[in-house]
Amino acid sequence: MFSDAYYAELRRTMDCPRCLTPTSRDEVDNGVGIICGPFGCPCGWSECAEYDVSGGPKLDEHGYELDQWGGATPPQILESEIRR
Ligand SMILES: [Zn+2]
Repeated sequence: MFSDAYYAELRRTMDCPRCLTPTSRDEVDNGVGIICGPFGCPCGWSECAEYDVSGGPKLDEHGYELDQWGGATPPQILESEIRR
């Protein structure tokens, strides 16, 4: 059903090139297949340069705070987490 490249991608692991820590990523099953986010490291490094926050916090054009795993958190969610 899926190509060898698809399964090879699912098996892929990666160590952070910046601090050599094993990285992790988000995997989501959308019912058709598994979609993987970019590998990210606690140090802020991201496989996807757009989400690399190793140089400090990064906001997208909507003011969402990006994280190294390909996430973007709206500012109001950050505020409610601080209050909790
Ligand atoms: Zn790292």
